[in-house]
Amino acid sequence: MFATLSDRLADTFKNLRGKGRLSEADIDATAREIRVALLEADVALPVVKEFVGAVKERARGVEVSQALNPAQQIIKIVNDELVTILGGETRRLRFAKNPPTVIMLAGLQGSGKTTLAAKLALWLKEQGSSPLLVAADLQRPNAVNQLQVNGERAGVKVYAPEPGNGVGDPVAVARGGVEEARRTLHDVVIVDTAGRLGVDAEMMQQARDIRDAVTPDEVLFVVDAMIGQDAVNTAQAFLDGVGYDGVVLTKLDGDARGGAALSVASITGKPVMFASAGEKLTDFDLFHPDRMAGRILD
Ligand code: GDP
Repeated sequence: MFATLSDRLADTFKNLRGKGRLSEADIDATAREIRVALLEADVALPVVKEFVGAVKERARGVEVSQALNPAQQIIKIVNDELVTILGGETRRLRFAKNPPTVIMLAGLQGSGKTTLAAKLALWLKEQGSSPLLVAADLQRPNAVNQLQVNGERAGVKVYAPEPGNGVGDPVAVARGGVEEARRTLHDVVIVDTAGRLGVDAEMMQQARDIRDAVTPDEVLFVVDAMIGQDAVNTAQAFLDGVGYDGVVLTKLDGDARGGAALSVASITGKPVMFASAGEKLTDFDLFHPDRMAGRILD
């Protein structure tokens, strides 16, 4: 991901090398190139406009500096603005004062929710928590089984519907899962919920019902970074339909252009909290805007 954007930006900066001072024309040309690079990477237009506007304004105010030449100063400005659109500071999970902390996952089918649930559980376990996974995705035929298999691989217990345990009713399963965690002293509950292939009123209603039943401490919207501009529309639809506290980007290991990843935080105003970049359960970490910007500009 971001390979093309990285290359394009590197070319832009190369053109500035050796310049002693940036003229208005240099700044305009650089801004145009950055605009094209971002649009080609599939970054949403409003985000591109804001980004380029900010870079231009700051570039005009650049003083001749002993420490940094103009090219380096522009790189620094672009870096800072990338960090800003990616959400600024690293946003960490908020844990409930009275455990269990309830984390609910929402997102489209195929976004990587079930995989992510197990990754997050393993990550939390490695941080010293005792998570419980709850299989409340009763829409996709194999989702419960997949969570059980992944939970086993992660060494994390899975609460799943059984006869008499709320079969067919995801709200009852979610509620039962939180009760089970309380009873068995798990300090974090991760509730996997059902998606659909596209935005769908029934899915949103079900997610709202689960949210209202378990009052999560964190609702995380899971989005496949490979789906391009659609990610922004889906993110907005879930924000309006369910609401969430943070975003998880999945499939960052793919070779897509990466614009979705660069647009979602800025468009929704919600921070990207985690990044998932592979099919292995350990391909997962907190999302650090500064590190991601650094990777793009590397
Ligand atoms: P769900 O329908 O949202 O629960 O999605 P799944 O967790 O079943 O994931 C859908 C597909 O994407 C599966 O084949 C996963 O193995 C794959 N997947 C999930 N996360 C990643 C990731 O970060 N990178 C890659 N390459 N594949 C992923």
